[in-house]
Amino acid sequence: MVVYSFSQINLYEQCPKKYQYRYLDGLEREFETSPDLILWTSVHGALERLYQQVNIYKIPIKADVLGKFHELWNNSIADAGEKLIYKWDQHEEDYLRRGEHYLEEYYTKYSPFDWVKVVATELSLNFTLDKDEHSENKQFRWIIDRLDKDDEWNFIINDYKTNKNLPPEDKDEYREQLTLYAHGIQQKYGKYLKSIKAKLHYLHFWLLDEWEISQDSINAIVKKYTEDINQIENSRFEYNMWNTKAFPTKQNPYCKYCEYQNVCPLRQHLNYEDEIVDWWELGEKTIKNLVDQYVKLGKKSTECDKEKEIIKWILIEYAEKKGFEQLFWNENKLWVSKTENYSAKDKDQFIDFLKQHNLLDETIDTPYYKVNTLVKNNKLTEEEIKTYLEKKDSRRLTPSKK
Ligand code: SF4
Repeated sequence: MVVYSFSQINLYEQCPKKYQYRYLDGLEREFETSPDLILWTSVHGALERLYQQVNIYKIPIKADVLGKFHELWNNSIADAGEKLIYKWDQHEEDYLRRGEHYLEEYYTKYSPFDWVKVVATELSLNFTLDKDEHSENKQFRWIIDRLDKDDEWNFIINDYKTNKNLPPEDKDEYREQLTLYAHGIQQKYGKYLKSIKAKLHYLHFWLLDEWEISQDSINAIVKKYTEDINQIENSRFEYNMWNTKAFPTKQNPYCKYCEYQNVCPLRQHLNYEDEIVDWWELGEKTIKNLVDQYVKLGKKSTECDKEKEIIKWILIEYAEKKGFEQLFWNENKLWVSKTENYSAKDKDQFIDFLKQHNLLDETIDTPYYKVNTLVKNNKLTEEEIKTYLEKKDSRRLTPSKK
């Protein structure tokens, strides 16, 4: 049975191929640590310790919380050793200063912590996404930073963020995440709770995003994730039936940081040795040279097409003005003709008209590439069109910037 997590589904949404590499092919990346990750775990660990103490009515002083932060930071730094790389002109002191600031400000704002009843810190939550006959396929697991309850039995999910970049307000990822946890909380504590609230603590910005999670939003998120998992399950099935396209590549802004670039067909060639091909019309060429040449020729031909079009209209104007039907120079001549093309005023009516005259077959020219788009957008299924159309391989090269 597959147990899903929020990050797994997000990874699939970001790129199905990456999901395949990580979760099906077992191409586990070597776990890379970073100063940002260490800051995140150290701040989380210090807050976890703080609330564990609060829960046994032993409020620690601020210095103890900072002490825990330093202890966790130093342990992680020692474990990471030389693998740890500071980027963008930042150093250890910068991260330490940030962590200290976050915790000091947090402590000052919320002490003496007497309003809160902590249900759990770092709560490991296992839940099912739906309760239908397939629910064994939709198990979820995640860890919640902290779960509180107030005097009126409202449960509050707390999540701490240490990012320096504030996500735009329309970025729903975090909200979706907490809404999904609320579904898990309902399954675990449903009989106690009156309502579920969420608190996103953006520690760097000293910002608290707080809201009540409605049943409607939970239902919508459960539906969305159920559909996502169904899609993943179908792809898994296809993949097990040797369909290598079951998890397609998906170009996205994170490709350039992706750890699978050396195996991914979309990026693999980037670090590939150049190879020579010998084609009698062109002679010896390297593949990389041919790529550049192809793009240059494509540009040239677009420029030529434009120029050709301008020349065409100049010559037609000229010939019409003078009343010439042919234009001559050296060995070349041009026949100047005028034709008119039709375009339909109302497509449906026109198709009916052709049907009445039994002329539809002679006139219709279906743009089959559009059928692909219809299948992609789920307006038609492959199954539905199989009776009418057969699939043939088609190849094209689309130039773009590297
Ligand atoms: S390089 Fe891009 S397309 Fe390839 S697996 Fe990684 S994220 Fe997906």
